[in-house]
Formats: sequence, C-alpha cells, structure tokens
Amino acid sequence: MTDLAFLKSEIEACILQLSPDLSPQILRKKTKSINLLLKAPIYLASPQDQTLIIEMFASFARKIIPYRKMTFSMRNESSQTLELLFNYGFSDQQLSLLKTQSPFNPWANSFGKPLLIKQSAVANRSVFHTLGIEEAVIIPVTWEGRVQAVWQLFSTRPNTFTMEDIQLFWILTMQCDLIFQHLSKREQIQKLAIIDSLTGLYNRRFFDRQLKVEVERAQRQKTTLSLLMIDIDNFKKFNDHYSHQSGDNALREMGVLLPEKSRTIDTVCRFGGEEFMIILPNTDHVKAFLIGERLRKAAEEHPFIINHNKSVNMTLSLGIASYPEMASSDSDLVRKADLAMYEGKRLGKNRVVLYSPQFEGSKKLDDRKKGINLNSIDFFMEAIRSLADTRKLMSSLLNILLPSLESDQSLYFEIDPEAKKVTLVTSQFALGSKPDDCCISLPFSSKFKECTAQLQTPGYLSAEEKQQLMISIPNGPTYPWNHVYCHPHRFSNSSTAFLLLFLADKKTLVGESSLSTPLANHLDEAIELISLGLRAQQQQRSFYRLAAHRLISLSETNLPYYQHHSTKVSQLLTKFSQQLELADNITRSLADTAYFYDLGLMSISNDILLKDTPLTSNERKICQRHPLISWEIARFSPSPIELDKPAIIHHHESYDGSGYPNQLSGNNIPITARIMALVDTYAAITSQRPYRKARSSEQAIQEISALAGIRFDPTLAEEFCGFIKSAQA
Ligand code: GH3
Ligand code: MG
Ligand code: MG
Repeated sequence: MTDLAFLKSEIEACILQLSPDLSPQILRKKTKSINLLLKAPIYLASPQDQTLIIEMFASFARKIIPYRKMTFSMRNESSQTLELLFNYGFSDQQLSLLKTQSPFNPWANSFGKPLLIKQSAVANRSVFHTLGIEEAVIIPVTWEGRVQAVWQLFSTRPNTFTMEDIQLFWILTMQCDLIFQHLSKREQIQKLAIIDSLTGLYNRRFFDRQLKVEVERAQRQKTTLSLLMIDIDNFKKFNDHYSHQSGDNALREMGVLLPEKSRTIDTVCRFGGEEFMIILPNTDHVKAFLIGERLRKAAEEHPFIINHNKSVNMTLSLGIASYPEMASSDSDLVRKADLAMYEGKRLGKNRVVLYSPQFEGSKKLDDRKKGINLNSIDFFMEAIRSLADTRKLMSSLLNILLPSLESDQSLYFEIDPEAKKVTLVTSQFALGSKPDDCCISLPFSSKFKECTAQLQTPGYLSAEEKQQLMISIPNGPTYPWNHVYCHPHRFSNSSTAFLLLFLADKKTLVGESSLSTPLANHLDEAIELISLGLRAQQQQRSFYRLAAHRLISLSETNLPYYQHHSTKVSQLLTKFSQQLELADNITRSLADTAYFYDLGLMSISNDILLKDTPLTSNERKICQRHPLISWEIARFSPSPIELDKPAIIHHHESYDGSGYPNQLSGNNIPITARIMALVDTYAAITSQRPYRKARSSEQAIQEISALAGIRFDPTLAEEFCGFIKSAQA
C-alpha cells in the first residue's frame, strides 16, 4: 500500500471512531478534510514560507469550519511563550489586545484539548466586545508532551460552530502537527529550502531573497555591493563530450571551488544550470573585478576529473555590476551583471567584464567600437612578472654558499666608472624599508670613490672603513655594523662589484685573506651571476617600459590623439621632478608611472573618449573610474618597476576638493599626484583633441596659471610654469 493510501485509510478510521453517525453533510465535510489531510505531506515536501503554510492551512480549514476571524500562535523557542504569528479579520487595535493579553491562550494551555467558548457562557464579556466576536474555538496543537501552538477561530454570530466542526478541525491539526513541528524548526526547514542539492551552494530562491536583503543593507549603511555572475564556458560541449554525469561532477566541483576562492562574507549561489551568482557585500567594482579574476584563474587552472586518470580544464565568463555605482536595485544588478557576462562571452569567453552602459542593447550591436580588454593587459603583466628578480637571486646564492653564516643581510653594489654610476642591491628591505627599493642607483661621489678604492682585497672592514662606507651611502643602510665582510670583484670591463655580508659575530671565513680558496672562487662566481641578474633586471626594466609603451600605442590605434602622450608625460615628469630636486627613486618611479597612470582610459569606449559634445553624467561617471582601473592594472607590475600608486589614483583630484575619485583637497592630495596632474594637463592642452586643436605652450601656461589654487597646487603650478618657460627659452 502506498503511503498516501495508508494515510487515507487511517484517517477514515479515525473519523469514524470520533463520529459514528454521519449525516451526508458531515460526510461531505469529512471528505474535504481527508483531502486536506492528504495534501499535508505536499506542504512538507515543498517547503514554503512559514506564513504561507499557515495561511494555506487556514484557508483550507475555512472550508470545514466557517470562522470569520482567526489567529495562530506558536511557542517561541527562546522566550518559551506563545507568539502570535498569523491572524485574520482583526483591526490593529484588536490585534494589540490579542498580542498583549492573549486572553484565550491560558485556556489552551490548561485544557490541552479543543474548547468552544460562547459569549453567553462567560461572566466577563468585555474581551468578546472588544474583539467583536460571539464564539471562540481554541484548538491547541500538542507535541513533545506540551502545547506548542494554538489555533483560535472566532465567529461573529452566536451558534456558528458545531462540535463536529471542531472535531474535524482538531483532527486536521493533529494530522498536520508534523507541519507545525517543522515550522517550529524553521531554521532547518529553511536550510533545506535554500540549498541546491547538486552543488551544495545556495539556490536561486535564496539568492533572490539574499540579494534584496544585501541591497537594502547597502542602501541603509551607504556602502557598496557587487554582484558577480558566472557562466561556465561551452558547458554544453563538455556534456556532449564527456557525458552528463561528468557534467554533474564538474558542477559539484564548482560548488567547492567557488566558495573556496571567495571570501567568507560572500554568498555563492547556483543561479541555474551552469550559472552561478556571487553576492559581494561591501565591495566596489574594482575589488569585485579582482575577486572575479581570482575565480577565473582558479577555474582555468583547476583539473576537472572526467574519469580516474583523465582531467580537463574549464573556463568561466564573469560579469560584474555594482550597487549603487552602476545599478539601482537588485533586479537591475542581475540584469547588468548578466549583460556584462554576455559581453565576456562575446569577446571570446574566459574573462571578467565590468558592466558598462555601452552594453545596453549590445546583444545586437556586435561591431561597435571597443575599449581595450582588461584581461589582455593582465595577461601581459603576468608574463612580465615572472621574469628574474636580482634580490631573490642574491639571497638564494648566498643561502647556498654560506648556509651557516647566520646572516641574511647582504649588500651588493657595482661601480661603473665610465658611466659614473653605482648600482646597489640589498637582500633585505632595510634600505628605506620598501621592498621595491631592492635596486637603487647611488650618486658616484668622490667620497664613495675614495672609500671603495681602499676595498681591494676580501676581508673584514676596519671600523674606519665601515664608518666611511656608511657616510658615503646616502640614507645608508641601518644594519648592525658589528662585522662587515667585503668581497670585491673586478670585471673585465673595468667596473668593480662589492659583496658585503653583515654579521653579528665575526666568523672565520675561509679564504678571508686569499683569492684562491674554493669559497672565494664561489663568491666570485656568485657575484658574476648577481651582476648578470642586475643587467637582466635593468634590461627588463627598459623592456618593460618599452612593452608598456607599445601596448598603449597598440591600443591607441583607435585613439589617435593619445599617441605619444605617455612618453611625453614621462619625459616631462622626469625633467620637472629633477627641477624640483626630488629623490632619484621618486623621479624614476614617476617616469615609469607615466606609462600606466592612464591605462584605465583604455577600458572606456571611444564613443565616450572621442565625443566632441559634453558628456552626460553617466558618461562622466564612467570616465571618472579610470584612475582606479589604471591602478588595478598597474598594481600587477613586477617588483623592479616602482610605480607611484598615489599618483595614479589621485591624478584627477583638484586642489579645491572638487576632483575625483576621493575629493581630496590641498595638501591631502599626495604630492606626486599634484605633480602628475600638472604634467598630464600640460601634455593634454598642447596636444590635439577631437574637439580642438593643439594649443601653444604659452596658452597652456596661461590656462594652468588660471587654475592655480583651484585645480592645481598654487606653489607647484608656479614652479611648473617657470620650468616650462625656462625650458622654452
Ligand atoms: P556558453 O559558453 O555560451 O555559455 O555555452 P554553453 O554551452 O556553456 O551554454 P548553453 O547555455 O548553450 O548550455 C548550457 C548547458 O548546460 C546545457 C545543459 O545541458 C547544461 N546543463 C545545465 N544544467 C546542467 C546540470 O545540472 N547538469 C549537467 N550535466 N549539465 C547541465
Ligand atoms: Mg548559460
Ligand atoms: Mg555556459
């Protein structure tokens, strides 16, 4: 016998016992109630909202028992009181009476059985008057030995409820007490209702609700929120090639991979088939882009198992929309993340795309002009990042040669007398403490020359030599100078290198006094290798500059006016910073930064960049994102290139606080950003634009002077104008 048939026969037996003489009318009611009872398991199988279940139950009950008003209360696990969860037919005032005094609940608690209370039978009728009722039926629902919920049904006319009605309703509640037990364990039910059974991720239903909650929260707390839509690329083919079963397994693996690579605050959901959504609270589009990239890479590198010994790779397309920057509501976020994701598919899949208003209607407009794809830049950075790092090379060489030295501090410098240049590499961050400072150029002062001339043989430096060396290195190292072992090395091209090891205790170093010992020879080899590494790094730096410039030039093919802008800015920045007597490393860093600070522009459509009419506010917003996007790209630069982050992010801040992205003002704007703003503007004014001709230096200086104290730092602006004038002269 099936469960349903069994249930039906049990219920019929039960009804017959309760009421052996059945009138046709009652029989009809009972049939109805049996139907109701049979539907009970369906409620359980399709977990619904708590209120919805109660409401449905109440409306079925109404077919059996003609009540005009009702309430349903259930024991609250924490407060252990009966809490009113649902009501029907009462005014607000009546409701507050029911809530505060719960006049009928004590009856339910003390009797534990259905009770019919008529107004005519009670002494104090005020409650009946206030509630506008004639009769009340109180039906307690009991499990685990006590009253856990109470139904109260009310009529507005006397003699409405019969004992049969009440009996039937009671049976109904008894048969359905499982539902209510489940309701009381709402957490559990909801958990079942919100988890996707294949992947273990949250399901669509939960996603819809959660996104609403998060958008409301972001609105309330004035924070940002991003939505990441993810679609597996070519999943249909995957299914066709490797079976639907393997497809299911791959989806399961995604269910592990995606949460693993997300943060704990993120909500990862299966949106449908092979589509996923990740809600990123407190996250703007830039951070979201990074997280998207991380996920994209993780999926790309993850081996999805097909059978025991075979695995394949799979890729994802991801679309991002952010609230409130790009979208105004939860549904808007979904639509825009979807559009961005679609754009990713259109551009060749396996990529992360930020929503842009240009995508509107893009499903048709395939041939419109595009900005450069951010992923290709990222890929480029990746390739470059993997090149050698001299400092790491030096550390590892010394670790191999001198494992017992207990010194991980070392200094290497190379003197090129022809170029009058000293290049310094340190294995520690002690010099100025910035990791990027690993390789710097020192001035070739006479003091330095004199000092190093004395260091011709390997050995410990005397106190005097140490002192001299220390003074000759500007902003010199703050090492413990207890013992310094120096190993000089002469290259065939007349340049000299010195490797200095800083030691807390004076060790007996083999070969201290002779060049011919094995260790001395090894140190010579190490120095040659470090020197080669240094060359490679310097070449890498120039290659990097060149590559960055070429990359920009290539992307400038659709943007003629922009050509040579970065070179122009880089050269001008170098000269101006020298004029300002900024430290060498700042000057060099600015020169490099010039190639990167505007890369974010490449992500903007030419329709906007080349527009010769005023931008709409939306278009302006898109443009104003570019400093942040530039930094997102630039931050992946390899360590030998020291980019100036503040200059990139803040080069559009205005001295008067009206700029972007942070509305910084005055001296709160980092100085390099203030310098960058001047040079960038000058380069732009003196170049041709789609909407105007290039203007002369004099005109540029006039414009810049006029904006001193408004857009520009007045002191720097004056310096700059003077600098340009003298350069022209
Ligand atoms: P695109 O790169 O454009 O996203 O192509 P696609 O094939 O991945 O996307 P399309 O929407 O054309 O096909 C989605 C496929 O995902 C079709 C369906 O067979 C498969 N799929 C959806 N849900 C499941 C599932 O639960 N299990 C398995 N194995 N496959 C599923
Ligand atoms: Mg799809
Ligand atoms: Mg797909």
